[in-house]
Order: sequence, then structure tokens, then C-alpha cells
Amino acid sequence: MKPLFFWTLAIIFASAQPARSQTSATQSPTPAATAVSRPASPQFSGSQPTAGPAPAATPRKPVYPKAVRGWNVPLGQRDRKAGSVINRFIIHHTTNTGDESPYFMRNNERSSCPTWYVTSNGEVIEFIDPVKRPSSTGAANDYSVAVETQNTSRAPLWGISDESHEAIAQIAAWLSMQSHLGPYKVDIKLDRTHIIGHNEAGVNKTVCPGPSMRLDWIVARAKQIVAEQQARSH
Ligand SMILES: [Zn+2]
Repeated sequence: MKPLFFWTLAIIFASAQPARSQTSATQSPTPAATAVSRPASPQFSGSQPTAGPAPAATPRKPVYPKAVRGWNVPLGQRDRKAGSVINRFIIHHTTNTGDESPYFMRNNERSSCPTWYVTSNGEVIEFIDPVKRPSSTGAANDYSVAVETQNTSRAPLWGISDESHEAIAQIAAWLSMQSHLGPYKVDIKLDRTHIIGHNEAGVNKTVCPGPSMRLDWIVARAKQIVAEQQARSH
């Protein structure tokens, strides 16, 4: 009797073990699955901004040929007013010496996102499709494309690198050679009426793009780039 009793217990115990571990195996994914689906619930969207339900930026081919990459960002991809003419290239600085890409890739609290972001080493990243309205310069967005530039130092100089200046001049040169972007007419001449700083756009009181941004140099260099390209193609 006694050995049989222990044998029976052993069988019960052995058969109970897989059942128990199976239970814990099916139970443990449940809290994890709940945690994953939680941020998708509107209830949590306000309290968990970093893990929130905001759609992520997805890669796309940039329109500007010299951009190293393009993104579909989860804000600011609004259409321009019908009949808008794109006639201003508006230049900003980020006031940040760090990489601002992660900020522009998310639905940030200022709903701020430029057409292009130029890093201090001269890389151009396209955020808002140039056909669409940037989210940079308030009332001027409908008729402009905008660049945000990484600073190399903070106040008071708000440094801008030579590489950034060159990259912005290259964009200006390209823009001046476009007659249309999508359905919109482009009229960006290489002068200081069409190529301006944020503080010259007449929409906000600001010192942006700061004292180190050489707008006259950018216009002069863009003219040189266009002249060189025309010389090559003839
Ligand atoms: Zn600005």
C-alpha cells in the first residue's frame, strides 16, 4: 500500500507540474500583452507621452535630391491652400547643439517641423515633403519651405558651421531652378527678398536664425552653384 500510495502521489505530482507550468506559461504573456496594448488606449495617451500612441515617422524617398534621407512625420504634412505660390525659403536655427531629428520625428508639443533639417556636418534630412506646408514659420507656412539648422554653440553667437552654410546654399540653388512642386508654382529667386531668415518673415518677433547665419553669403554662394551648373550643361 505504502509504495503504491507514494507512486500515486508521484504520478499526480508529475502530471500536475506540466499543468501548472502551462498555466503560468499562458498567464505570463497576458500582463505583457496588456502592457503593450495599454498605450494604445486613449486613457493612457495623456499620461505616457514617451510611450504614447503617436504614430512613428516612416522612411520615404526625399524630394530634394541631395537629402540623405526623408521621413513621413506624424505631424505637419498638411496641404497648402489651393493656388499657393511657394516664394520664400525661410531659414531657422534650432537653438540646439544636439541632434534635433528625434524631436522632428515625433508629434512634438510645439507641432514644429521644417521641410529640411541641416546638421552641423552639412547633412540634409527631409522631414516635411516640400510640396506640403512646413510647420515652422506660422502664417508664412503656406507660401514657404523652411530649413532648421543645428547650432554649433549656444547664445550669444548661436554658431552655424561652414558645412551647414554650404548645404543651405545648395538647397537654395536647387529651389531657384524649380518651377513647380506638385501643383504649386515655385518662385524663389536668389535674392534677399525670397531667401530670408525667420526674423525677416514678418510673422514672429524672434532673433532666429541668430547672428552667425550669413544669409548674404548663402545667396551669393547659391548664385555661384547655379552658374557652375549652367556652365557644365552648356
Ligand atoms: Zn525660427
